[in-house]
Amino acid sequence: MRAAKKDDFFDELEGMTLEARERYQTTGLKKALEHAYANAPSAKEIFDRAGIKPTEVRQVKDLEQLPITRKGDLIELQRSKPPYGGFLAVPLEEVDRVFITPGPIYGPHQIEGISWFGKTIYAAGFRKGDIVINTPTYHMSPAGLLFHEGVRACKATVVPTGVGNTDAQIKTMLDLKVTGYTGMPSFLMSIIKRAEEMGHDFRRDFALKRAWFTGEMLAPATRKELETRYGIDTYQCYAVTDLGGCVAYECSGKAGMHFMDEYVIEIVDPDTGKQLGPGETGEIVATPIHNPVWGLIRYGTGDISSYLVEPCPCGRTAYRISGIVGRTADAVKVRGMFVIAKQAEQVLAEFNQIAQFQLIVNRTGERDELVAKIELADESIDEARLSLLLSERFPQVCRVKLDKIEYVPQGTIPQERRTIVDERRWE
Ligand SMILES: [Zn+2]
Repeated sequence: MRAAKKDDFFDELEGMTLEARERYQTTGLKKALEHAYANAPSAKEIFDRAGIKPTEVRQVKDLEQLPITRKGDLIELQRSKPPYGGFLAVPLEEVDRVFITPGPIYGPHQIEGISWFGKTIYAAGFRKGDIVINTPTYHMSPAGLLFHEGVRACKATVVPTGVGNTDAQIKTMLDLKVTGYTGMPSFLMSIIKRAEEMGHDFRRDFALKRAWFTGEMLAPATRKELETRYGIDTYQCYAVTDLGGCVAYECSGKAGMHFMDEYVIEIVDPDTGKQLGPGETGEIVATPIHNPVWGLIRYGTGDISSYLVEPCPCGRTAYRISGIVGRTADAVKVRGMFVIAKQAEQVLAEFNQIAQFQLIVNRTGERDELVAKIELADESIDEARLSLLLSERFPQVCRVKLDKIEYVPQGTIPQERRTIVDERRWE
């Protein structure tokens, strides 16, 4: 691994040793919890109900004693304790700006002291001299303003084009020789396609060489097209709106997203709140330790991932999440492992012999059973061979074995169906 150069990193946190990070995080966590407990009534209530004091949380593991707060809880609390749900941890007049996201959720923000997005945009290679169109909306939601500030934190020039107006975006890109893009991958793709419709050769006519994405998944096929066909270096970041910023971000290694040191991030079993180890799949839960305004503790994102501890070639030392594989609502636990609807769909889509499928989870005695019901694309297909291939491939991706593969007549499985049906009864 090559040694990191001084300007490879946005700040010194990115290259901390593991011991330094542990110290940094536990000190930050203690301070954040004590501050939230003393100033945010809902944070105090969380501790009181759990029967512990902030001083009893001495390490990240101790967070397990506290419940997870999710979007639904936050919406409910903001309704019953308007406007901030009892999580505002500074005097009202200290709030710089308030973002409004669906719910509605009111998100109080302070500008000073936090690099909300600078670090991720820097890791994507944006520097002084870049001219960047920033394409998310600038009103209500935090995206436009926060990405704008992030680009400025890298000393690049921002053009606040905002959302939509494809033709105007194209003219701006040509006139200003725009080199960078921030926003969603789908919108960049529609800009490129529109430019091609207008007769442009994208590589020849445009100066765009770098794009930073968040807000939607970057499909591998889209990434490949942007990079190889259009010569755009692409990066992505995992942001959580209710936490006000980036939680994990990609580096030039493009294999997972590094945890932001401004949060304590846990991957947990969403049912029990217990922390999971490297490689185990669970819900991403984050506690901000650098945001004195917002007293949220253990915010459950509903996003499912796992984390990697292997060193990254970029030299950043923070662990990485392996990517978002689904939402807790789309995942069913089978024998202690999450089967994610989207992952299962990916595997089944690899087999063009399969026309339609559905996974059923039931329980015989004490054991969960996972059954795949399959409609074949055509009757001449060798069922035994397909079963063999599928039984081998399925656990490679979904990490749970299929117990049974049942072939059903065409038309048995409805077109509009849930990918995984949980038929277990717990009473
Ligand atoms: Zn890296």
